[in-house]
Amino acid sequence: MTERTLVLLKPDAQRRGLIGEIIGRIERKANWEITALELRTLDAGTLEQHYGEHQGKPFYEPLMGFMQSGPVVALIVEGERVVEGVRQLAGPTDPIAAAPGSIRGDFGTIVRENLIHASDSPESAEREVKLFFPGRA
Ligand code: ADP
Ligand code: MG
Repeated sequence: MTERTLVLLKPDAQRRGLIGEIIGRIERKANWEITALELRTLDAGTLEQHYGEHQGKPFYEPLMGFMQSGPVVALIVEGERVVEGVRQLAGPTDPIAAAPGSIRGDFGTIVRENLIHASDSPESAEREVKLFFPGRA
């Protein structure tokens, strides 16, 4: 079944020159298609909605600051089982726990600066696509 997911390449990806490397890994996957792509600096309001589930947690405020510390690349990727698939490509949240071969396992440093966000379910994906690309609802 074809679905779509919302991917953000976080500011550390831009700072470290890893945008092309990460997009390349997504793009090389057969049967997936990038259908939207934009470099932009996020505002607090968008991030509050995006990371609302984490409000009140100890890492929330530093995460807000980090996510506004530079531009992010927002993408919509469409394809078969793409929600699960991009999460697999990314690897677990903590780069130390992420296997080599995954984006976070190969390039991640600390938990906060783990290079990539990918929607965690088809329901989250629909909400996040509408948040970042309202015209694509
Ligand atoms: P994921 O991005 O893998 O879905 P979460 O939704 O749990 O992970 O967390 C959102 C983001 O918040 C993570 O990608 C990471 O940047 C940051 N984060 C999560 N947990 C921690 C933590 N314990 N310490 C610092 N930052 C964290
Ligand atoms: Mg998450």
